[in-house]
Amino acid sequence: MDTPVKSAESLDLFVNATQQFERALSWAEGLKEGVINFLINPKRMIHVRFPVTMDDGSTRTFHGFRVLHSDVRGPGKGGIRYHPDVTEAEVSALAAFMTWKTAVVDLPFGGAKGGVVCNPKQLSRRELRHITRRFVAELGDNIGPHTDVPAPDVYTNAQTMAWIYDTYDRMHAGGNNLAVVTGKPIEIGGSLGRDQATSRGAWNATEQLLRRGAVPGLHTLEGTRVAVQGYGNVGSVAAKVFHAAGSIIVAVSDSRGGIASEDGFDPRAVLDHKRETGSVIGFPGSQMISNTELLASDCDILIPAALECQVTEANARDIKAKLIVEAANGPLTAVADQVLLQKGVIVLPDILANAGGVVVSYFEWVQNLQNQKWNLDKVERLLNEKMCRAVDETVDRFDGLRDRYENGLNTSSGGPTLRDAALVNAISRIGEVIVQRDIWP
Ligand code: NAD
Repeated sequence: MDTPVKSAESLDLFVNATQQFERALSWAEGLKEGVINFLINPKRMIHVRFPVTMDDGSTRTFHGFRVLHSDVRGPGKGGIRYHPDVTEAEVSALAAFMTWKTAVVDLPFGGAKGGVVCNPKQLSRRELRHITRRFVAELGDNIGPHTDVPAPDVYTNAQTMAWIYDTYDRMHAGGNNLAVVTGKPIEIGGSLGRDQATSRGAWNATEQLLRRGAVPGLHTLEGTRVAVQGYGNVGSVAAKVFHAAGSIIVAVSDSRGGIASEDGFDPRAVLDHKRETGSVIGFPGSQMISNTELLASDCDILIPAALECQVTEANARDIKAKLIVEAANGPLTAVADQVLLQKGVIVLPDILANAGGVVVSYFEWVQNLQNQKWNLDKVERLLNEKMCRAVDETVDRFDGLRDRYENGLNTSSGGPTLRDAALVNAISRIGEVIVQRDIWP
C-alpha cells in the first residue's frame, strides 16, 4: 500500500469535516467546482443571544446557533446540543455531517445542527426550560416541519424536545405542528424506538458489515470484545444491544473516567450504578481506567459514543480494535483516519454508523404528518432495512473504489476507506438532485 499524503492535524471539527470531504472528492467524478464550493460551506447560519432569569434572580445572556448546511434534498434535519464548548465551527461541521448522513441513508432531508453554549450540569430544570423556550422563540420561523427540524443531541433529551414543540406550537396555534421536532416523548407524538434508534442502527449496521465480510477476522458479534467510550443516550444503549447480540463489554467510560473488566459487564447494572452515583466509575468489581486507556483497550470493536476528535494522531497507533464503530459524530480526526488505514483498522463511519437516530426521526416526522402511530416491530424492522441497505451500498461503492485504486486511480490516498465510500454515495446523491432540480439558473 502507498503511504497516504498526510495533511496537518487539527482538532477543529469543521477542518476535519472539510478534510474528509476533500479526500472523498478525490474519488468522486463529475462534480463542477462551483457545486463543490457550495456543498462545503453551510447555506445559512443563525446566531442568537437571549437573556434568561436564573434561579438566584440574576440575569444571564446565552448564545445559541442554528446552522442549515443544506436543504437540497429536503428540510434541514439535525440535533440541538447544550454544551459549554459549543462553537459556530463545531455546529457547522455537525450540520455538514447531517447532510451527508441523510443522503447516505437516503432520507428526504438536508442537514442542520444547533447548539447553545451552556453547562446543563450546572443548570436547574427551570433554567433549562427557559433557555430552550427563549432559544426557540429567537429562532422563529427558521425552524418548522418543512424548513428545519431539530432533534436531541449531547445533553438534550425528550424533555427538551417537548419544550421546543410546545413553544413552537404556541407560536403557530391552530395547526398540526408535531413534525417541527423529533425525539419527543411518546405521549406528544414521539416514535416508539427513537430513544434506542442510534445505537440499534449502529448494531444493525455492524452486523451487516460483518455479514458482508468487510472486517478481516471478524464475522459475528458473538463473543467479540467491545469497548464503549461515553455512557449517555447512545453509549449505554450501544453497550446493551451489543451485549444482547453476544458481545462482551470489556470497558466503558464517561466524562469522569472509565472502568474495565476482563469478564465483561452487565450494561444494565452499569447504567443503574451511573444513575445512582452519577458515573460509571466505582462499579463493583471493576478496574478503573482512564479514557486514554479505554481507547487503547484490548478489544475487537471500539465504539466511541461521546464527543468529537477523541482518536487523534497521538493515540491512533495504540488502537487494538479491528473495527471502530463511530456512534459519536466526528470522534476520529482526518489524520487518525489515515493512521488507522495504514494499520488496517476498519472504520464504520459516523455518517453511516449513527444514522439510525435520524432514520427513526424521519419515521417520527412521517407519523406526525400523517397522524399515525407505528408499532415498535414496524419501526425496528424498517430501521434495520434502511441500515442494511446503506451498508450494502457503501460496501459496494468501496469495492468499486478499491478496484479503481488497484488500477492506478488516486494512488496517493493510501486506498479507499468506508468513509470515502459513504461520502461518495452521499455526494453523488446530492449532485443528482442538484442536476435534476436544475437549481442554478
Ligand atoms: P449524551 O449527552 O447522552 O452522552 C454523552 C456521554 O459522553 C456522557 O456519558 C458523558 O459523560 C460522556 N462524555 C463526555 N465527555 C467525555 C469524555 N471526554 N470521555 C468520555 N466520555 C465523555 O449524548 P448522546 O446523545 O449519547 O451523544 C453522544 C454522541 O453521539 C455525540 O457525538 C452525538 O452527536 C452522537 N449522536 C447522538 C445521537 C442521538 O440520537 N442522541 C444521534 C447521532 C449521533
